[in-house]
Amino acid sequence: MRLERIASARLAELATSRACLEDEVRPAALPRLAGVLADGTDGRLALRLQFEAGPESRPLVELRVAGALQLVCQRCLGPVPWPVEIEARLTVVPDEAAAEMLAEPFDSVLLDADGALCLRTMVEDEVLAVMPLAPLHDDRHECRPAHAEAPGEVAGQETAGETARPFAGLRILQAEAAKSGK
Ligand SMILES: [Zn+2]
Repeated sequence: MRLERIASARLAELATSRACLEDEVRPAALPRLAGVLADGTDGRLALRLQFEAGPESRPLVELRVAGALQLVCQRCLGPVPWPVEIEARLTVVPDEAAAEMLAEPFDSVLLDADGALCLRTMVEDEVLAVMPLAPLHDDRHECRPAHAEAPGEVAGQETAGETARPFAGLRILQAEAAKSGK
């Protein structure tokens, strides 16, 4: 990523001149995102930022993120390809109060404490917002068999080897609830 942060004065210039910037970022450079990706995920996310004047005289950035990531299947813990194609129109505001003045407060991005737009954080937030919470292979047959203790037995496949995963606990709780409900 060549551009990390854009100061607010520069943002105003970019909006006035309707500038367009292109860049790319390695997913491994986005720590919150890297933590949920399959091991060995490589590649780049392509970024495109189109600036224009937005509502309430704020700069607006039309962000496009494209690429491919490898998520972790919550059934077999194998990698699941996830194509990334995100488009967002975000009004740049200095604080939450300014965001609430907008007609669409959620379509906004906050400047950091130094009054600059942190591109890394903005891209990471947008990707995490649309990422599937519990990615799974579409077809059960695509799941790698290493963790299936009892092939053909659905319950065994779903919980085997997943004790370290956040959703494994949820499944167990649901199963307990179902049992106690009988
Ligand atoms: Zn799988």
